[in-house]
Amino acid sequence: MDTENTVYGSFIANEMKQEGRESVLQSPTDGTQIAKVYFATPEMARAAIDSAYESQEKWSSTPLRRRRELLGRLADIVQERSEEYAMLETMNTGKTIRQSTFMDVPLAVEHIRYFSSEREFKSRRRIRHPEFPGTVGEIQYAPMGVVGAIVPWNVPLLMTVWKIAPALLAGNTLVVKPSSYTPLTALELAKDSVRAGFPSGVLNVIPGEGRELGSTLTSSNRVNMISFTGSTDTGKEIMRNSASSIKKVTLELGGKSPNIVFDDCDMDHAVSGVLFGIFLNSGQLCESGSRLLIQSSIREKFVSRLKERLSAMKPGNPADFETEISAITNREQKNRIERMVAGGVRSGAIVEYAKNMEGSPSGGLYYPPTLLSSVTPDMEVGREEIFGPVLSIMEFTTEEEAIQIANSSRYGLAAGIWSMDRARCMRVASRLQAGTVWINEYHLLSAAAPRGGFKDSGIGRELGLEGILEYTQTRHLFINKGETDLDEAAYGLIFSGDK
Ligand code: NAD
Repeated sequence: MDTENTVYGSFIANEMKQEGRESVLQSPTDGTQIAKVYFATPEMARAAIDSAYESQEKWSSTPLRRRRELLGRLADIVQERSEEYAMLETMNTGKTIRQSTFMDVPLAVEHIRYFSSEREFKSRRRIRHPEFPGTVGEIQYAPMGVVGAIVPWNVPLLMTVWKIAPALLAGNTLVVKPSSYTPLTALELAKDSVRAGFPSGVLNVIPGEGRELGSTLTSSNRVNMISFTGSTDTGKEIMRNSASSIKKVTLELGGKSPNIVFDDCDMDHAVSGVLFGIFLNSGQLCESGSRLLIQSSIREKFVSRLKERLSAMKPGNPADFETEISAITNREQKNRIERMVAGGVRSGAIVEYAKNMEGSPSGGLYYPPTLLSSVTPDMEVGREEIFGPVLSIMEFTTEEEAIQIANSSRYGLAAGIWSMDRARCMRVASRLQAGTVWINEYHLLSAAAPRGGFKDSGIGRELGLEGILEYTQTRHLFINKGETDLDEAAYGLIFSGDK
């Protein structure tokens, strides 16, 4: 796809509007211009909200079967265009083409397909009321209405899919605000939704600055729910801003996830898993295993194996299939990584290893995969999210100590455990404050399994049945089956005499 000359804008009521503030996007892979995007103004954001609002009633009364069918068609179209999507995602984010081709895009397709074909979600169910045998209840899972979906820059296509597919399935209409750095694949998805047959206004996308457009979404009385993925600080602000209009808010936030390695692990597998856990997407994943908790008895051997494997990883242009290391998606993030690592070193951490990045394009944004040792849980690099290719290494001696260090973080998104002792894995996993715990694995995910955070990592879940139910509110129909005795018993509370 020739994106350099492609012009994007807000996608409102099934039309791409080339108006607003013009912005030129450069690729973090090599600094070249990749597209022009017109960012939405607050007035355009309001028009997008109106379009979602006006189409909501009709969409929610569209049969569930039909909503599933349209999602299925969208999955087919994204699959047909998967090479274009992968290249666009790589050029916009700097992630390797290997990753976008074999992970981000296929998962996006599979996950849209999951929501089009899963059968656990029903829009209603019958209940009995044990107190009133002459009645029956119907619980309806009504859509929330208009959903404002706010998406980060690290995995833009998949994160957009995780919001739009369950929300549309449940009968909501959406205004999606992608990150100003990486709006391209969300806009392509919106264009493809028209080809799939989604009605006008059901899916709107407004690229642009977070604070300005975000506050238009959070303050609008026409938006009933905000589904946010991003940093914990922004999540707090969104929660505050949503309070005045009593919106439902779901938050998928940051993490500082521990990868706990015991001395009875399968060492080869654990070394690969720990590297995969932190260096996939150059550590720019919310659930990256950014703290290695290693049992002291194997520390030397394990770290030297990490260095060995790391030294063989290939830097280069992420658009080449041989390249194994992703770029950093934007300059602000690169500066933040540099600042945090320098601060860590000042507070006593040691740069145990930093990868030579020779071969990466000079105009791009790169940070060498780095191992930081002598980190303690109180250092900033031991407790705060760096969101880059930096592994903070800490040691423990006992199982109890590992659990204490793991849970000492304010975050609770994910964790990994590496041990051949199944009973120990289950025992430790059940005490970890984390929404996902991988046992002898890392990063694998399933559309059927809900994911989300404990503590400062968020509220609510995405994916699975739980993820669909987040986009619903229950309506209870209390139905009298025609038994007037019941009425009399109830009304007798205020009418003591004869009628
Ligand atoms: P961010 O919080 O800076 O931005 C996220 C989105 O919010 C962007 O679209 C941004 O424009 C918008 N935004 C910014 N200020 C806003 C405001 N005041 N009101 C409304 N919207 C606003 O996050 P980021 O830097 O884009 O992404 C990285 C962060 O996202 C990391 O902390 C990472 O851990 C987190 N993340 C979490 C998950 C998860 O599932 N838990 C997944 C991916 C990323």
